[in-house]
Amino acid sequence: MSQIKKNENYVMEITGMSHEGQGVGRIDNFTVFVDRALQGEVAEVKIIKVNKSYGIGKLINIQTASPERIEPFCVHSARCGGCSLQHMSYEAQLKFKTNVVKESLKRLGRLEDIMVRDTIGMQDNGTGYRNKAQYPVGMAGDGVSMGFYASRSHDIIDGNLCGIQHPYSDRVRECVRKFMVDSGVRGYDEGTGNGLIRHIVTRIGYRTDEVMAVIVINGERLPARDKLIQMLISEMPQVKSIYLNINTANTNIIFGNRSMKIYGKDTITDYIGKFRFEISPLSFFQVNPVQTEVLYSKALEYSGLTGSETVFDLYCGIGTISLFLSQRAKRVYGVEVVEAAIVDARLNAKINEVDNVEFIAGEAEKVIPHMYREGIRADVVVIDPPRKGCDEVLLKTLVDMEPKRIVYVSCNPATLARDVRYLADNGYRAEEVQPVDMFPWTGHVECVVRIQRIN
Ligand code: SAH
Repeated sequence: MSQIKKNENYVMEITGMSHEGQGVGRIDNFTVFVDRALQGEVAEVKIIKVNKSYGIGKLINIQTASPERIEPFCVHSARCGGCSLQHMSYEAQLKFKTNVVKESLKRLGRLEDIMVRDTIGMQDNGTGYRNKAQYPVGMAGDGVSMGFYASRSHDIIDGNLCGIQHPYSDRVRECVRKFMVDSGVRGYDEGTGNGLIRHIVTRIGYRTDEVMAVIVINGERLPARDKLIQMLISEMPQVKSIYLNINTANTNIIFGNRSMKIYGKDTITDYIGKFRFEISPLSFFQVNPVQTEVLYSKALEYSGLTGSETVFDLYCGIGTISLFLSQRAKRVYGVEVVEAAIVDARLNAKINEVDNVEFIAGEAEKVIPHMYREGIRADVVVIDPPRKGCDEVLLKTLVDMEPKRIVYVSCNPATLARDVRYLADNGYRAEEVQPVDMFPWTGHVECVVRIQRIN
């Protein structure tokens, strides 16, 4: 048990960084995590929590600043739950992310000899990159409030700019704000369940300049809805599609089950590489289209395909990676658990006139053992699981099936390390890792790994 006391201030040296991007140091030999502190800094912190094995300090005052410290570009960065690394230079963020990957592989995976390349960052330091925004809407006194939730809470920070969103998203939101104020339409109150507009969701076709706006309402109809449509399309000719989504449930889930198009096209279009995708209000699409192309190109390169191979794309979503791989494979099987995503994936293959891919709905850990028993084998397997990584049943089946190469795309270095360790114990060697910065100014890192069969 530690000697440090809650609500007391201490001066401490930040000697490292957690994988989430908090500064870490020791007070009286007791570990303390501090949001928005950087390695090498000396800071005064107020202890706000003391657990058994660690404490949490709030940054009060920086006595010695790191040379990597910069002024955040967003005035809300200290409170907002969105970005956690805005006080760190972009160069330092990229180094931090490379390091997280190296450390995870070494410490959690006991994998020493893998080449981890430098993280590929964005050219413009990664502002305005997000193609999808979900702004909560509420009431603050008599006024409308909209923005993002504060860190670890549902308090809405009322703001009019977000540096990582595409600027169109901010413009849509401010237009809806003006409409609400002009027309007396109220924002939703989570506490009482009163008020109408709950969320404003925007989607941007990065390469087509098309915008979709979805207004999530707590009711069946939106008063003065034609006025909103007029305001949006005259303010922004880029708005090509407007939906209402009905969500009257007392829930944290953003969307309800019913969506109604009230203006324009059913979908907006975007491209990744040469492939075209139609995006509807609920469909999954990677949020950083520029870096997605970088990531997929790397996955294609690491797959080492020559045109004669059978390939599995597991956890395929709407089939984006499958289409990339189809360019150099004989046949691609995409497997994904969400049925609606598989419907989109089949449509995407059709739109792009790709006929050597087949999509199967189901859990990878069930579908692949079944296919293996039926005699369908892959020469190369690409996996892109959610944060919890792969089920061991799947990994075991892959080991039995003996594909010559596995390309692992991961958004969580910890589960990546665990799964690569399993493969390393069973006849595979991870040869090269390429981290890609899909989420600048946040602590998240994505990587793609080339894994080779060794006997
Ligand atoms: N490769 C896609 C999506 C990756 S996100 C892309 O780049 O766009 C991970 C996907 O795994 C999600 O679409 C999720 O629905 C799916 N998923 C989660 N668990 C799964 C499982 N057990 N089997 C198959 N797919 C699963």
